[in-house]
Amino acid sequence: MGIPLLQQFHVGGYVVRQHLKGRKRYPLVLMLEPLFRCNLACAGCGKIDYPDKILNQRLSVAQCLEAVDECGAPVVSIAGGEPLIHSELHKVVEGIIARKKFVYLCTNALLMEKKLDLYKPSPYFVWSVHLDGDRGMHDHSVCQDGVYDKALAAIHKAKERGFRISINCTLFSNADPDRVASFFDSVKDLGVDGITVSPGYAYERAPDQEHFLNRERTKNLFRDIFRKGRGGRKWAFNQSSLFLDFLAGNQEYHCTPWGNPTRNVFGWQRPCYLLGEGYVGSFKELMEGTDWDAYGTGNYEKCADCMVHCGYEATAVTDSVRKPLKALRLALRGIETEKPMVPEIRLDKQRPAQYVFANHVEKKLSEIEQAKARPKTMEKVG
Ligand code: SF4
Ligand code: SF4
Repeated sequence: MGIPLLQQFHVGGYVVRQHLKGRKRYPLVLMLEPLFRCNLACAGCGKIDYPDKILNQRLSVAQCLEAVDECGAPVVSIAGGEPLIHSELHKVVEGIIARKKFVYLCTNALLMEKKLDLYKPSPYFVWSVHLDGDRGMHDHSVCQDGVYDKALAAIHKAKERGFRISINCTLFSNADPDRVASFFDSVKDLGVDGITVSPGYAYERAPDQEHFLNRERTKNLFRDIFRKGRGGRKWAFNQSSLFLDFLAGNQEYHCTPWGNPTRNVFGWQRPCYLLGEGYVGSFKELMEGTDWDAYGTGNYEKCADCMVHCGYEATAVTDSVRKPLKALRLALRGIETEKPMVPEIRLDKQRPAQYVFANHVEKKLSEIEQAKARPKTMEKVG
């Protein structure tokens, strides 16, 4: 298990308190995207295909911390785009740590060495470095040679300074289980504290549409990987054992999209980190005004192949809290890779995909223009 005890107690206590309060829906991890600009253009990325005027938008430090307070989740994952491009990101991180919340700073590590002095090691802070496999796999995935070596150099430097490091590994249909298993072995030697692994979501805006996994291939891939690592016990994952069990086709989970609510330059994103189907101005509006039953595998075409942690980890964590012995047994025995898989969710009643991206972009561009025009008008009036 790659999650330290302090975090396990903190998050576990939070989940139990939510249950005692009778809250039906509560957030576990705030996904904070302070910008969409990135210094890479990965083939499987669906987050950066915006006009420059939107890529140049930033959430301010105050907006980021307001989102953290509004949401109240015990963990904040800072994503993007490349968050380290944000010139004041260290202040956001400091503010989150001061609130005693755990912060995962997701980065492709190209700017990490340069920015390291701005950050201090803390039990509440983790560098989550994007690494999709060994040198060949990763550089192929991010469409640029040399990125793996830069990430490794940054990891070494950060380890020397006492930081906690996790790697964030997304797998696609071309993943070779032997190579993935060897890669997981190798990150242990690097001193990496934990691994977050997930199948890539089939983003409609990603340049490469050929290599996304469907659910059947995802489950077989993860079984093949776990077989090579004592049912997954060989490696320190940041995710719950029940989520990993779900990836291997042993749990019939439904998505919990409100578990990882997302705040970005558009507002609070509906319904989840992966899908931008609408935006609202407050966390309360997101939680209370979203038709949650309209989303998730079986409910919506765009969710059909999704098995990503930001939708299903919260389901697994809730199950772990309700059935701690089941989770403990699994952690001790490892993930079962030979038994028949649980039945797949039926897709015959899902509603068809709606394509709303262009409308959101147009609306945002017009807001940006209006905001630019505002001070000029005031000057004239004054
Ligand atoms: S996947 Fe991450 S590193 Fe790659 S382009 Fe997208 S935001 Fe940048
Ligand atoms: S299944 Fe859940 S997490 Fe996945 S895209 Fe749909 S709403 Fe988002």
